Amino acid sequence: MHELPITEQLIKLAEKHCRDNDGTKVIKINLVCGDYSGFVPESIHMYFDIISEGTMCEGAEIDIRRVKPKLKCPSCGELFERELFSFACPKCGTDGEPTDIGKEFYIESIEIE
Ligand SMILES: [Zn+2]
Repeated sequence: MHELPITEQLIKLAEKHCRDNDGTKVIKINLVCGDYSGFVPESIHMYFDIISEGTMCEGAEIDIRRVKPKLKCPSCGELFERELFSFACPKCGTDGEPTDIGKEFYIESIEIE
């Protein structure tokens, strides 16, 4: 449910960007969304279609790039995606530790007209 306020925020930011750059319409918003960010891309798409109506974002496309969470190996420094049922580093077998990779959520770019 918390995708609603974040989507409203997204539209406001995109409209501001559009106005600041003398645009009239937002064409596309490129988002980066980590799998551990807590946001569900499908919900953002859904809310966006509804609440962008009548704004400069109406009809715009949202492209959401997913980021897979990665672990970092404390022994050799390798960054890797965890396997199902395993945290082991593919290089040396040590259990990896969580990183911030996969928690990101931000606008990468906004295309306007
Ligand atoms: Zn390792």
